[in-house]
Amino acid sequence: MTGNAAKLAELAKEIVVCERCDLFKTADRAVPGEGPADAELVFIGEAPGFQEDRTGRPFVGPAGQLLEDLLKSVGMKRSDVFICNVVKHRPPNNRDPLPAEIEACRPWLEQQLALLDPLVICTLGRYSMQRYFSGTISRIHGKAQKIGNRWVLPLYHPAAALHNQGLRPQLFADFARIPDLLDQARQERQAARTESSSATAKQEPKEPPASQGRLF
Ligand code: URA
Repeated sequence: MTGNAAKLAELAKEIVVCERCDLFKTADRAVPGEGPADAELVFIGEAPGFQEDRTGRPFVGPAGQLLEDLLKSVGMKRSDVFICNVVKHRPPNNRDPLPAEIEACRPWLEQQLALLDPLVICTLGRYSMQRYFSGTISRIHGKAQKIGNRWVLPLYHPAAALHNQGLRPQLFADFARIPDLLDQARQERQAARTESSSATAKQEPKEPPASQGRLF
């Protein structure tokens, strides 16, 4: 396990025993999130549902099946990406998470993102969108914005497209932007690395030329 994978696993252990809000009292178990520690792409959903609460894994119900279909449509697999939620315990009867619950859970997500340092974050639905954007989802979905050193792409929640089939084509169209966005983000990160390493090289004093042996 790499250093970051071990740190993410440690964090997951803390999340599993979290009692920072009351949701742990009604949920079966916490759902910390899953995926490779070096994932370039992170999906943030809302909160675990029934199946997630039973298994401890994110997006394993019907919305998860659609998420896998969406990933497949852009040549990706679930195991390529990190998937997590704004809130780590299921709200009773799948009600919307309360502001206090989102706030209590915020440090977990912050720490996960700090460790993952992804190139691109896709928000799924309103609650994760609100971490980054103030507009309404019907206006801003599919429009990526650079926030700090990464791109954030707001997307409809797959569950919304299951309830309203009219959103499905839009969700697939928005997903289709992901490969280009990842390419662009990779190039930008590489350019930033090159720039910072050449700046460091300029600051370092030049090696003195190897002294020549004195000739007699
Ligand atoms: N919906 C979510 O937002 N997250 C899950 O993990 C499952 C369904």
